[in-house]
Amino acid sequence: VIRLFVDHELSVGATVPLRRDQAHYLTNVMRQSEGASVHLFNGRDGEWRATLVEPRKKVWAAMVEDCVRPWTPGPDLDLVIAVVKRGRLETIVEKAAELGARRVIPVLTERTNAQRANLERLRAIAIEAAEQTGRLDAPSIDDPARLGDVLRHWDADRRLMFCDEAGDALPVAESLAREAPASAPWAVLIGPEGGFSPAERSAVRALPGALPVSLGPRILRADTAAIAALTLWQSVIGDWRAP
Ligand code: SAH
Repeated sequence: VIRLFVDHELSVGATVPLRRDQAHYLTNVMRQSEGASVHLFNGRDGEWRATLVEPRKKVWAAMVEDCVRPWTPGPDLDLVIAVVKRGRLETIVEKAAELGARRVIPVLTERTNAQRANLERLRAIAIEAAEQTGRLDAPSIDDPARLGDVLRHWDADRRLMFCDEAGDALPVAESLAREAPASAPWAVLIGPEGGFSPAERSAVRALPGALPVSLGPRILRADTAAIAALTLWQSVIGDWRAP
């Protein structure tokens, strides 16, 4: 079934206007026509079956029929990621969406060399991945912020799994296993290709909720590290565990 992420409120009988890119995808790429069934989700109302209509030529909407899956929140897991080269950042956002991250916070660090991120494109990638994975929301992508500012405004209740390649952190799976299955909100922090500066490392480690972890004896690229870290978090304390 075709799943579309929309902004609109979803309830029985609602008419949801579709964007041009969605209409193009449905009609030209997926060859759907009036009367076809699609599923809609918006990150708060669950997943709904809807029927395609074309009230005016080339203007498409979906008439909401019934709820097929009630809303259930996913794990409260953010990914704080240094802005890395464009292609890698895009991969990271796509994989983070597949692996169930709720929010991606791109950060600028002392050693980030990429200064900008194409947020519009990253948001589109996150939504497309969310549509394809069956989740009921799409991860939000923050505007890039300085790591120092993110740490200064850190919510004291949110734990931070700090992926620290410097070698003295504890192995990730063992460290996580000592934590209660995630009831607290969490975030994963991954640095840039140049790593964190000593000052950044101590600032992160000084956060009361920080959990420095090692991802093994090899240095991983940021994209590999992000995928490995989210996978381990999900399998040890997240929603990959048996319910
Ligand atoms: N400082 C390294 C490269 C950093 S790799 C160097 O220049 O040699 C990019 C990021 O991936 C790191 O900041 C860290 O967050 C994560 N990472 C990579 N390998 C890791 C490992 N073995 N353990 C923990 N984190 C790792």
